[in-house]
Amino acid sequence: MMPLTIKQAPTGTSWTSRSTVAAELGAAALALSLALCARAGAAAEEYAAPAGAPTAQIEVDARQASRGIVAAHLILPVTPGPLTLVYPKWIPGYHSPAGPLTSLGGLVFTANGKPLAWRRDSVDLGAFHLEIPSGVTQLGVDLEIDTSIAADGVVQGREAARAATESLLILEWNQLVLYPANTRSDDLSYQAAVQLPPGWKYATALDTVATGGEGIRFAPVSLTTLVDSTLLAGRYMRDIPLGGAPAVTLHLAADTKVALDMSAQTQAHYRRLVREAAALFGAVHYTHYEFLWALSDQIMPDGLEHHQSSDNRSPLRALLDDPIRRAEANLLSHEYVHSWNGKYRRPSGLATANYQDPMLGDMLWIYEGLTEYLGNVLAVRSGLLTDEEFRGELAHYAAAMQSHTAREWRPLQDTTVAASLLYYQSRNWSARLRRQEDFYQESALLWLEADTVIRRLSKGRKSLDDFCRLFYGPPSTGPELVPYDFDDVVKALTAIQPYDWAAFWTERLDRLRPEAPLEGLEASGWKLTFTREPTVMHLAQEADDKDLDLRYSLGFLVDDDQATIGDVIPRSPADEAGASPGSHIIALNGYKWSKELLHDTLEAPSDPSGKLTLLVQKDDTFKTLELEYSGGERYPELSREPQTPDLLTQIAKSRAPQN
Ligand SMILES: [Zn+2]
Repeated sequence: MMPLTIKQAPTGTSWTSRSTVAAELGAAALALSLALCARAGAAAEEYAAPAGAPTAQIEVDARQASRGIVAAHLILPVTPGPLTLVYPKWIPGYHSPAGPLTSLGGLVFTANGKPLAWRRDSVDLGAFHLEIPSGVTQLGVDLEIDTSIAADGVVQGREAARAATESLLILEWNQLVLYPANTRSDDLSYQAAVQLPPGWKYATALDTVATGGEGIRFAPVSLTTLVDSTLLAGRYMRDIPLGGAPAVTLHLAADTKVALDMSAQTQAHYRRLVREAAALFGAVHYTHYEFLWALSDQIMPDGLEHHQSSDNRSPLRALLDDPIRRAEANLLSHEYVHSWNGKYRRPSGLATANYQDPMLGDMLWIYEGLTEYLGNVLAVRSGLLTDEEFRGELAHYAAAMQSHTAREWRPLQDTTVAASLLYYQSRNWSARLRRQEDFYQESALLWLEADTVIRRLSKGRKSLDDFCRLFYGPPSTGPELVPYDFDDVVKALTAIQPYDWAAFWTERLDRLRPEAPLEGLEASGWKLTFTREPTVMHLAQEADDKDLDLRYSLGFLVDDDQATIGDVIPRSPADEAGASPGSHIIALNGYKWSKELLHDTLEAPSDPSGKLTLLVQKDDTFKTLELEYSGGERYPELSREPQTPDLLTQIAKSRAPQN
C-alpha cells in the first residue's frame, strides 16, 4: 500500500443514483468439474476445515463496470444445516477493515433454483445467516458492487473506491466474494471467471484456462490467492517484458492510447529495477510477476501489493509528463519490494487466517517503512530517480515529519497500531492533531539511520543490503508466507552487525519528540535545509497532488482547482492568522488569487514588514487574514555536510550488472 498522496480534504462526495442491473449470469452458471482442495491437517481447532470441500465458482460480469456496477454469481458448495457466510473485511495491504461493505447490494441466495431466506447478523454486519435445506449441495449467490460512489476518485471509509472508467477496470476479487465464517482462506478453493466489455484485454497473476463466448476462466486457486490476484483490464493495454528469471512483465492500461507511450529509456529503467531487486535480495519468492499499472485521472492514485503482482494506479500522464513521472517513480519499486517485505515475510499480526480476523499494524514500521525506504533506494539504483531526485524525496519526508506537531502526543508506534484510523482520512489538521501514515516516511528515515549505523560500525563492510539478503533472500521459493515478529528482526540485524537493535527501535518507536529524526540523513553526510528555488521533486509532488505546497513558508497547502486551504501547519504564519482548512482563497493583498501572484508576492513583498492579507471565504462568510511573513519562498532540500562521508551517494549506487 502507498500512503495517500492527497493532501486536501475531498471536496465532496457525489452520490450517484443507483440503478439496478439484473444479475444476468444467474441463469448461465456453468456446470464445472469440482476439485478437491482442503489441505489435510492445515486447520487449527478454531477454524472449521471443510474436509474435501469442492471448489466454489465465482462468475463476474464486469461488462457494466464503466457505469459503476460489477455483478457476481457465486456457486458455493454447501451442506444442509445452518451456514454463516461473511464478506471480506480486513483486506491484506489495506491494513484496515476496508472491505467495501457499504457498496455491497443485490444479495440474492438461491437453493435448487428457489430463493432462500437470509438474515444479516445484528452485530457483525458483514455476516449473513442462512439455513441450507436438506438435499442441497450448492448455494447460488448473486451480488453487486457499486463502484460509482466516489466519482471524484476519493474513497471514504468502507466504500468501494472508484476502479473503472470508460476504458479500464481494476477488479479486486475480495469485493465480490462471500465465504464461510471461521474458515481459513488457504483452505477454500475458488475458480473465477469474468466477462469483460467486448474487445478489452486483461492481465492478472491468475492462470487462464479458457477464453471464449462465456468469458475468461481461470484455474482454481485458494481464496487467499484469488484475493491476492487483482485483474486489470482495458480497451488500451500494453505489455512490456522486463526480463528477470522468473519472468517479470509490466502491463499498462490507460484511459487513452497515447498515455501508454513509455519511453525506451523508462522501459530500460524498469528492466533495471528487476535486476536491482535481484541484486539486493539475492532470491525471489514468485513463479512469475506481473506489474499491473492503471493510468487514469478518474481513479485515486494508489498502490496495492500482491505476492506475484501489484496493483498500481497513477495519473493519466504519468509516463508523458516529467514532473508526474518523477512523483510516481517510486510507486512500482515500492510495491515490488512488498513481494519480499510484506508478502513472503510478513509480521505475524498481519498474517491472519482469513479476512475477518483483525490485522494488527504494530509492525508497519518495517512492513511499510522499510518498503518505503527500499522503494526509493531501488528507484535511484535503477535510474527511475536521479541522485538529486532521491535526495529531494528524502528532504520532502524529513520536512513533512518536522511539520507534524502531533508528534508531541503521538509516538510513531501509535501511528502503526492505529493505522486503520489514519488511512483514507481527511488531511485537515492532520499535522496538528493526528500525524498521517507517518510510519511510511518517518520509518524510512529511521531505516536510513539503521543503514548508516551498520555501515559505520562494520567500517563499511556491511550494510542494510546484507540484512535484506539475510531476512528476505535465498533460497528462492514460490509465493510462500514466512511470518516474523520483533525479535526476529532484532536477531537478523544483530547477525549482520552486533548492536542493541531492540533498544534502537524501541526508543525510536516510543519516544515523544518534536524534532523529526534527521540523524540518519546527517550520518549519511546530508542535512535538511530550505531553499528559495523548489527542488524538482517538490515541483513533481505539487504536479502530482495538484496543489501548491506552502507548508514551509506561509504554512498551508492549497489545491489547484478550488484554491481551497488544506492542512494548516501549527505555529505557522497562516495558523497565527487564524486560517482554517476548507477556506477558499479569493484574493491576496487585494488582488485576485493565483499561483503566479503568490510566487511574485513572496519573492518581492509589497509591504517591507512582510505583512500580507488573504481574503478567504469559509462556508457563507468572508474573512481577511493578516499573515506576518517575510521569509520568501521556502522549500526543503538536502545540503551536503562536508565533514561526514557521503554515504547517501554510496547507498544510491547501482548493484546490478548493467544490462
Ligand atoms: Zn506499501
